[in-house]
Amino acid sequence: MADDKIIDGKLIAETMKKEIAAEVAEMIDKGIGAPHLAAVLVGDDEASLTYVTSKEKACHKVGMISSVYKLSSNATEEEVLNIIDFLNKDDEIDGYIVQLPLPEHINETKVIQSINPNKDVDGFTLCNIGLMQLGEPCYHPATPFGIKELLKRSGVEIAGKHVVVIGRSNIVGTPISVMLSRKGTDATVTICHSKTQNLKELTVQADILIVAVGQVEFVKADMVKEGAVVIDVGIHRIKDNSEKGYHIVGDVDFKEVYKKASKITPVPGGVGPMTIVSLLYNTLKAAKSNKK
Ligand code: NAD
Repeated sequence: MADDKIIDGKLIAETMKKEIAAEVAEMIDKGIGAPHLAAVLVGDDEASLTYVTSKEKACHKVGMISSVYKLSSNATEEEVLNIIDFLNKDDEIDGYIVQLPLPEHINETKVIQSINPNKDVDGFTLCNIGLMQLGEPCYHPATPFGIKELLKRSGVEIAGKHVVVIGRSNIVGTPISVMLSRKGTDATVTICHSKTQNLKELTVQADILIVAVGQVEFVKADMVKEGAVVIDVGIHRIKDNSEKGYHIVGDVDFKEVYKKASKITPVPGGVGPMTIVSLLYNTLKAAKSNKK
């Protein structure tokens, strides 16, 4: 029997993929064409290559077109910017991402801010960040968008609740804090970071605790209020003697915190699967507006 304490990100992501695939099929049937997501990959960082490959696979699964623009690690900034310019102008491409990190000699900010905001399906340009801040329609970054969907689709009430976010990164902590506090979502949000004092005094007040701290099993049971909803964003590979040679844990001590939480995301299988599906969602949205 399903454990209804567990927020099953894998299952929710599969449901969203089916919804997206149905819309893509309809676009193809109507002769509009399939959404097209491109990725720019500079260098041979193994993790980046893995991410880009899994994004490609996910695209194909829902019937989208994907293409990857690969550049060697000694590509110049100008070469990268030329590709960005090409992608901005090419009507065939609905949305694209630049896989980070870029090699050190390339100015990441300059590259990201050169992306056409209408194709910025990662939601990293100043335009999309500004629109998000204003609560206007825009592309939300994938991981926070995925977290919001997890909460909504698990029936977690957000309006009026106290959300405590641990972490203020530009890709997770800060955007999720903004998104949940806007009109329409209406949470009261406290954002904590490395300089926060008396962290525990704040986390025990959380109705919803979102943890994006990047430290292995950082949140223990005594930091959590009885009945809280706990969202664990962390991903850490721990070496072991298993066949795979590792297992994955999060930023929350799941075993301890599970007992106190009313709902909790597992790692793996919680927030992780939602990130790629959120990128697909943004690509579909871009294609709908581009192919009108
Ligand atoms: P980051 O390292 O950029 O940010 C960590 C944040 O934690 C910082 O804002 C810092 O101020 C805060 N912090 C550090 N020590 C603290 C302390 N003692 N008390 C309170 N706050 C403290 O991390 P990130 O990029 O936001 O990622 C966080 C985690 O989520 C990582 O494990 C990362 O691998 C994972 N992640 C997962 C996904 C996904 O798809 N599931 C996506 C992005 C990141």
